[in-house]
Amino acid sequence: QAKSLGKNIYRFHSPELTLKAQRRMEIERELRLALDSGEIVAFFQPVIDLETQKIVGAEALARWCKRDGTLISPVDFIPVAEQTSLITDIDFSVLSQACHQARGWDEAGLGRLRISCNISARHFQRGNLPGEVKRVLEASKLPPSQLTLEVTETVYMENIEQVRSILESIDAMGVSSALDDFGTGYSSLSYVRSLSFDVLKIDKSFVKNLPEESSLALIRAMLGIAISLEIIPLAEGIETREQFLLLKSLGCKLGQGYLFSPPVPAAQFQELLKKQNTT
Ligand code: C2E
Ligand code: MG
Ligand code: MG
Ligand code: MG
Repeated sequence: QAKSLGKNIYRFHSPELTLKAQRRMEIERELRLALDSGEIVAFFQPVIDLETQKIVGAEALARWCKRDGTLISPVDFIPVAEQTSLITDIDFSVLSQACHQARGWDEAGLGRLRISCNISARHFQRGNLPGEVKRVLEASKLPPSQLTLEVTETVYMENIEQVRSILESIDAMGVSSALDDFGTGYSSLSYVRSLSFDVLKIDKSFVKNLPEESSLALIRAMLGIAISLEIIPLAEGIETREQFLLLKSLGCKLGQGYLFSPPVPAAQFQELLKKQNTT
């Protein structure tokens, strides 16, 4: 962003900008400490098969659990982390926690859950994403078929060929990919097809206004795209029974939302699994 303001910004710092930069560095330092002391924790939100209403997977979502008990939402620290290389460490920490958990649940006889992790666009600009993912899978002994990586549309806006080659390596390992927040960015449909995503996550902003007519039309169109490209559709942010029944009747395969459960700590998620196994 600094670039677009012109060269002068490097010579004449405004006091406001300096303050902002200082505050950011402070948060960065706190975040680094938090990460190193295990305060960045994976929470889990069930992914439901809308037909059977069973839990078939979970999305891992980062939470900053401070020592004093406060819980900080990722919307308040992921954007800061994304401005630095911290985000890659956060993503791998959550990925590693999630893979170990999923393996643990399988070993405890609670089922082979598909686990889904958010991967920032930063990983596609540098570094060795497939190699790192492989390392985490080996360390956790989780079969690659149980893992899905979620990326948003911003990921492939810059260097489509590099993104394609990284996604292909991931696919070759047997790991799935999901396009997150579908409908909110600038997706070209030909990209969606050519990157061969396995799952299309319809953004919750569309689900929120169901059954309002304009949202209904958009959701129908997005489901049509997913189905004709043979990508599994998943609706985010299902909060009411009406939304659930409507999405199911429109052919949406998977769903997540407060109607089923918010993201919860691993121990609580495990209770949900146990309850499901006994009913
Ligand atoms: P996302 O990946 O699209 O995750 C879905 C968000 O919707 C989550 O917010 C989830 O708690 C929320 N949600 C789930 N069900 C409902 C519902 O019924 N209604 C409403 N209103 N919201 C619902 P959360 O956990 O605050 O995460 C926000 C975003 O932060 C995520 O959006 C993701 O982009 C990012 N994020 C979270 N964890 C990570 C991470 O480990 N790495 C990266 N790179 N990004 C992460
Ligand atoms: Mg996600
Ligand atoms: Mg999303
Ligand atoms: Mg694929």
